[in-house]
Parts: sequence; C-alpha cells; structure tokens
Amino acid sequence: MKRHLHPLDKKEDRIIAYFSMEIGLDANIPTYSGGLGILAGDTIKACADLKVPMLAVTLMCQKGYFYQKLDHEGNQTEHPVEWNPGDYMELLPTKIVVSIEGRDVIVQVWEYWVKGVKGYEIPVYFLDTNVPENTDQDKNITSMLYGGDEKFRLIQEVILGIGGVRIMQAIGYHNIQKYHLNEGHSSLLILELLRQTKIETNDTHNFEKVREQCVFTTHTPVPAGHDNFGIDLVKQVLGEFLPEDIMKRALHEGQVNMTWLALENSKYINGVAKKHGEISRDMFPGYPIDSITNGVHSLTWTSEPFRTLYDKHIPGWRMDAFALRYALKISRKEIWDAHMQAKKKLIDFVNGKTNAGMDYTTLTIGFARRCTQYKRPYLLFQNIDKLREIVDTAGKIQVLFAGKAHPKDNSGKELIKNIFSKITQLKEKIKIVYLENYDIEIGKLFTSGVDIWLNTPLKPWEASGTSGMKSCHNGIPNFSVLDGWWIEGHIENITGWSIGPKHKTEHKDHITDDEKDAEDLYYKLEKLIIPMFYNDWDKWTEIMRHTIAFNASFFNTHRMIHQYVLNAYFH
Ligand SMILES: *Cc1c(COP(=O)(O)O)cnc(C)c1O
Repeated sequence: MKRHLHPLDKKEDRIIAYFSMEIGLDANIPTYSGGLGILAGDTIKACADLKVPMLAVTLMCQKGYFYQKLDHEGNQTEHPVEWNPGDYMELLPTKIVVSIEGRDVIVQVWEYWVKGVKGYEIPVYFLDTNVPENTDQDKNITSMLYGGDEKFRLIQEVILGIGGVRIMQAIGYHNIQKYHLNEGHSSLLILELLRQTKIETNDTHNFEKVREQCVFTTHTPVPAGHDNFGIDLVKQVLGEFLPEDIMKRALHEGQVNMTWLALENSKYINGVAKKHGEISRDMFPGYPIDSITNGVHSLTWTSEPFRTLYDKHIPGWRMDAFALRYALKISRKEIWDAHMQAKKKLIDFVNGKTNAGMDYTTLTIGFARRCTQYKRPYLLFQNIDKLREIVDTAGKIQVLFAGKAHPKDNSGKELIKNIFSKITQLKEKIKIVYLENYDIEIGKLFTSGVDIWLNTPLKPWEASGTSGMKSCHNGIPNFSVLDGWWIEGHIENITGWSIGPKHKTEHKDHITDDEKDAEDLYYKLEKLIIPMFYNDWDKWTEIMRHTIAFNASFFNTHRMIHQYVLNAYFH
C-alpha cells in the first residue's frame, strides 16, 4: 500500500535489510515467479507482525514474470503482465547511479509499505531502471524477472546488489547492521559493502566487518542450480569493481559463483529445511551451515472460513501462529464445515472458468507449483490403466492442476502438454483441469479448497517446498514424497501420507524411482485415502485437525522469523 504520512519513522531504527530478486506480496504485484518470491513476501509480512525493524529491497519487474496462456493442447505462451505500479506504491525522488560496462545507469525506486497485524509497517523498495536518462536497453534491465541471457541476468544482479545498497543509503538508512541475502542473486551487495570499508579504513577491504553483517540463505540443493558467471563476462560488466582479492573468494570451478561469494562473506548461513541443511553441508564442505525450515504467513494463506473459525476458538492466532496448536480443541464438524465452504468457493471458481462441471462431494486432489522436471507432475499418470481401475473400484476423484513453466524451460513446457494429453485420455473417467496463470490468488483458492495436496518431487531436489504448508493452514492433509519440509511435518496416517518406498532395499533395482514412487502412490490412494475419505469421516476429519495443530502451528513464518532473530539477526 501507499503511505501518506510517516512523521514518526526514524530511519536509523531500521537495522536489517532483506534482499531478494523476487518478492511476492500480492497477486496484483506480479514481481515473483514462485516459491522463493512468496517466501520473501511471507517473511516480510511476519516481520511486520512481529515488529522486526527490517526493510526490503527487490527489483521492479514492470512486465512481471509473465502472464501464462495455454491453448487446447497445453502449449504455453508468455505475455507481459499489464499493471500500474503507481496504483500500489509511490515513486520516490531518490536516484542513484551504477556503472555497468563503463556506462552510468540511473536507478530510481518505488516504495511500498507492508502493514502487520498490530500496525507496524515495513517498507519494500523496488529498484527500477526505466528512467528517461537511460538508453532503451538499460531501461529494460528491470523490465522482466529472470528474462534475457546470462549477461542480462548478471546486470540485474548488479542493480539489485550494488544499486540496492546505494539506494538505501541515499534514502537515508545509515544504521543497517545485517544484510539478509535471500539466495545468491543479491551477493554482489558484498562488493559494495567491501568497497565502502576500503574507503573508511584507508585502503584495505575489511572482510571481517562485512562478514559480521551478512546473513545468507541458500535454497538450491543441487550444484547445477547455483548462479555463476564467466570471469570475462564479469570483468566486462563490472570492470574494476571486482578487485582480485575479492574475486579470489568468489571463484568456483573457474567461474564467478554467487553462492561462493556469499558463503565466503557471510557469518551466518542456512539451508531452508533440516534435510536441506545436511545436503548443503555436504555440497559446501568447510562452511558452518545451519538450517531454518521455511514457513508461510498464516493469515495470508488461511481462507476466510478458517479465519473465522480460528478467531472464534483461538483468539490471538493472527499475532501468534504457534497458537494454532490449540486447533485440537475445535470440533471436527466445524473444521469440516469450514472446509466445505472453502471447497465450494474453489469448485465454483473452476467451473466458472473452465466449464468443467466439477462437484462438491468428489475427493478432489490438488497439484500446483512451478512446472519443472523434478516436480514430476506426471507421476499421478504413470500408469493410466491402474488409475482407471482405482477409480472404478475404490471411488471417484477429480484433479486440479496449475503451474507456469519458465519461458526457457522446454522440458517444463512439455510436461504441461503431457498433462493435457492425459486429461484427454482420462476424460470419460476422471475430471481433470489444468488452470492457466497460477498466481497467489489461485494459490489461495487451491490450497484451501481441495481435499488432499499432492506433491511428487524427485528427492532431494525439493529444498523445502511451501505450498503444502499453506494447505495445512486450511486443514488439508499432504500426500507427498518425503523431501524438504514434509520429512519434518509427516506422521503417517496422522498428518497425511508419504509417497515412495521407505527403504531403497524394499524394491528391486530394475524399476525406476518414478515407478517405485507411483506404485506406492497408487497403493495408498486405493487402499487408504479414497476409502477413508468416503467411509470414515471421523478418521478423515481427525487428520484434518492434526494438520492444523501439528503442522500449521510450526510451518509458519512467525516461527521462522523467531529463529532468524535468535540465530541470525541479533546474536
Ligand atoms: C506457494 C506458491 C509456490 C511455491 O509452491 P511450492 O510447492 O513450494 O513449490 C509457487 N507459486 C505460487 C503462486 C505459490 O502460491
């Protein structure tokens, strides 16, 4: 929101700066692509609730990530998102300059205020190069999230990291004590901080001072996912800005690696779930890597009927999400009624958009997330004949899909087409819909309106995952591969169900992970989940209640921020 008065805001009170390439706060502000950005938005909302003196820095993305359209075969086309930043935020008069390939690029900034439940507010700064003084090419630097080639990406990171620090200072924030790097995209801020220490301390970089200030959260459990750039490209873009003594500390396998730059120069480093912490310690030996499991912002992801229910039984939950533990005292009937209200809202929305004719009583399975190979959206369709047999013998299901593939991820796009072909093949048996343009609004409807939340990532690629935490806030059990957060949240048949053999030795080696996991998925769907849904309302609603009490009470950003405050920000 825009703020009209801020007489009491003392800039020196803000001591934490949170940097993220993408931030997802609201469906109307399309500057996010998926989990990383939503996490950033939910982090800021929790800090506003808990009065953590933070400010946040990100990129403008005037054309958003993209608007997704799908034709009848599931071919994705990407369109710029049309929106007016001025409707939501205020353009400040402040401008700064960043040198890129020897050119001066001017950066301006938009200010947006996030208000917590008790009225405390956190400013978010959106950096924007679309100013008349810049060349057309430079105006476009902040036009699109993750658009363009490698060089374009590096230039965006220069604007975020170096431009971000400068603009904060130009606005008047001079008392920042911690810089939180949400993933390595903002690592270049370290260069600017080091440069400034060199000016202060006549001619040496004060690495220790900067290390003391930096907190780095890594999100990527596989080596190939880490951002890196060729030395020549970096020299071309940054010129003298990357001196040899710093460059040395960022090199990995001959490339300038943003993760390494952050690892070398951050005092506190963490992965985003317990398992991901372990994987990161193996991947980056020698660095002290902790873990803080992600969460979601409880109020944002709780549907209206459940908000009303919690307000009645657990007053104070909006300010203190730990209190959701006491959902154990809410009657199962009230939980079911709230769920059915949210489910009807979703089914009506889907039928209105697609004419799919879905109904309120059929077991509804939801699957929505970025569409990319390791998420394996096809796993439910691994064996179509088996699936047909299951719905004939055990009971009916209907299925909702949504998700965007990155514009350059051709295999992700193929996955969408593949699901469309399965939808056609199963048309007579199962109603399945793939909704266009997955965003925060559709996310809210899906994670509150389906009956089970399906998640089938290939281990260990899911660093944390968060959409399953959203479903827990609405009493919806997870049915998921044991990876990321679900390893911590899963109690079989109590909070939901796992997918996949427990021990590798349980199965013969000649079948693939996909086949093993699909076999277990079908087995549980047929023998446990569908029969329980239709025949054992007591047990089903007990599981719903447990998802709130055991999972929503922990997998939220209030708990997560408590941990960042204790372990990273003020220690
Ligand atoms: C929550 C959310 C995500 C992240 O989902 P994961 O299951 O963690 O991958 C992505 N996109 C949108 C729109 C979301 O709301």
